[in-house]
Formats: sequence, C-alpha cells, structure tokens
Amino acid sequence: MAAVQIKKVEKYFGGTQIIRGVDIDMEDGQFTVLVGPSGCGKSTLLRMIAGLEEISRGEILIGGRVVNNMLPKERDIAMVFQNYALYPHMTVRDNMSFSLKLANQPRQVAEERVRQAADILGLNDLLDRYPRQLSGGQRQRVAMGRCIVRDPQVFLFDEPLSNLDAKLRVQMRTEIKELHQRLKTTSVYVTHDQIEAMTMADKIVVMRDGVVEQTGSPLEVYDRPANQFVAGFIGSPAMNFIPGVLRRGGDAARVEFADGTVLPAPATSAGRDGQPVVYGTRPEHIELAGAADGVATEVIVVEPTGADTQVFTRIAGIEVASVFRDRHAFTPGQVIRLRPDPARAHLFDAASGARLAG
Ligand code: ADP
Repeated sequence: MAAVQIKKVEKYFGGTQIIRGVDIDMEDGQFTVLVGPSGCGKSTLLRMIAGLEEISRGEILIGGRVVNNMLPKERDIAMVFQNYALYPHMTVRDNMSFSLKLANQPRQVAEERVRQAADILGLNDLLDRYPRQLSGGQRQRVAMGRCIVRDPQVFLFDEPLSNLDAKLRVQMRTEIKELHQRLKTTSVYVTHDQIEAMTMADKIVVMRDGVVEQTGSPLEVYDRPANQFVAGFIGSPAMNFIPGVLRRGGDAARVEFADGTVLPAPATSAGRDGQPVVYGTRPEHIELAGAADGVATEVIVVEPTGADTQVFTRIAGIEVASVFRDRHAFTPGQVIRLRPDPARAHLFDAASGARLAG
C-alpha cells in the first residue's frame, strides 16, 4: 500500500490544456473518488497515475517515489477498466493468474493467490468458465480478481460499473466497498456518478474543466459545498437555486427574490447589503409550513416514489423540488406553504458562484 500524491499536474493534448494544475493528496489505504461531468479530465488524470498518459507538467508520486518516468508495470498499480478487458480465449482461472505467470511466479504461488481472490470475490464455481459464459457483474468481478492476485500498492478504477444495469451497479458498489474495507489497498476510483462517489469514497475530489473544485469527505462536500457548481453536482435530487438579493439591516439577514418573496438568509452568511446572490436549498431540507410560516407556492407536479413524495412547485418563478418522507395527495394547481430550513440553506455569490454562507 502507498499514498498517491498529485503535485501541480498539467496535461496538454496537442495545444489544448486538459488538466490545469491539479494538487491532490490521496492517503495510504484511502478510497479516493474523482468525480465530475463527462470530459472534465478525470480519466486522463487516472491514466497519468497508471502511466498510460504522459504528464506534461508537475509530478505524481506513488509511495513517495516520483513515477513520471516509470513504465506502467514498474509502478506497482493494477487497473480495472469499464470494459473489463478480459482475455476472451482464457478461462477465469487463467485470466486471473496470467500476470503472475508473466512475472514468473511459481505455479503453486499463483494457484494459491487465485484461490484466495476467488474466495474473496465468490468466483470459486466459475474458475473454468470463459468470459463469454459470464454475466456483466461476474466479468467485473474477474477483472477485480485479476488485480487482487497481484497485490499491488494501488488499485485504479476507471468507471468500472458503467456497463452494468442499475440494480447490479448498486450491488457491485457495495461489493467494491466491502473489498476495500477488507484489503485496505489505496484506491483511486473515477466516476461521473455522484451517488457512487458519495457512497463509496473516503475522500471525494470534485473536478470541472481540468481543475479541482473541492476536496473533502462526502459529508463535508454535501454540507459545505465550496461553490454553486459543487452544490448542484453533489446531491440527488439536485439542490434548488433561486436568484435574489441579500438584504441586511434590521434584525436578521434575508434574501429577497424577484417577486418580492423573502426568506431568512443562512445565519452565518457573509455578503453585503444589496449583493446579488443565489439562495440554495436541498429538496430534503424543505418542510411543509403552517399558515403563518414559509412561502406560498403552487404545486406543478407530484411524484410519489413509494418511499417518499417528490413535489415540484414554483418559488419566485423558479421550479423548486421538495422531498417529503410522508405521503401527500397534493394536486397540480394547489397552493401549499413551504419552509426551507434556514440552518441548512446555502448562499452563493451570483457572479462568482463562491459560497457566502460560513
Ligand atoms: P472524463 O474522464 O472526465 O470524461 P477525459 O479525461 O476522458 O474526461 O477527457 C478530458 C478531455 O480530454 C476531453 O475533452 C477529451 O476529449 C480530451 N481527450 C482525452 N483523451 C484525448 C486524446 N488522446 N487526445 C486528445 N484529446 C483527448
């Protein structure tokens, strides 16, 4: 096991800069997830750690050693790809032991490692099958088995669950997390799926356009997003954003919206009187309010999921989603009063998107 450090790393493809000076510390034994929209550069960064892409500028260290000029095989890493990359003409057993054979490990050692990995991954009954005789989830497990037998310092995962159906994705997510809890191998995992990032990560790195927007534990990023982009990207359903103006003076700061509606500003908000802001509230932090409380809104759509009820209404002309644990038989057009929890509301500068609530 080893820490992975990314220091001021940049990447150009021809004249185009794809990674724009990225610094990340991935601690020994930690599960770090790089997450961001498609095209933000997360796979490129992972491939630079693996040695599959050159580093244009900056340094990458694995276990304290600069690996910039090392070949992939010298870096002591193992990578799981989205398309599994199994050898179709080899059995599961041979797929898993192949790298050990290349490394001239004695047959007995290879057999024992394959047996252990098959135990961990529940592959014992499948060792004599060929990849075409396996389901998607089983293939992905074999791809992980192939990494485990090598006992590398670092596991790298490049969107490994993207080809699986929704139910299997959830199951494999738990399996990978369990595997990490058991082996504690430093892992770097790339995904565009923020739920995967939230549920699996010790540390989340949110990227956009080749830069890191925020790094932190899943709950730090959820509770205190550094800016409006992170706030909107992390969390499902996504945070609601309502543009308004910050008003100070009198007892408490408040936000005034275009239609004159007013909501209390989050208690610790920075920002000056008259500053254009964006008020953020997560759907799960909105509650039904009494007649004298909250704001009046008109119901647009009601979506019961069974577990909860999602209600879409309009506040100051903006569509706002709310999620209630209880069942509600609201009808479109009905007026209901909603109260975003001021303690869990967010405030961002309208121009820069930077967080204002402290
Ligand atoms: P992500 O994994 O976040 O979806 P990628 O790292 O795959 O993003 O790609 C980041 C950007 O780099 C994209 O705009 C992509 O088109 C570009 N890119 C990736 N690989 C190459 C390449 N070999 N040559 C030129 N551009 C590339």
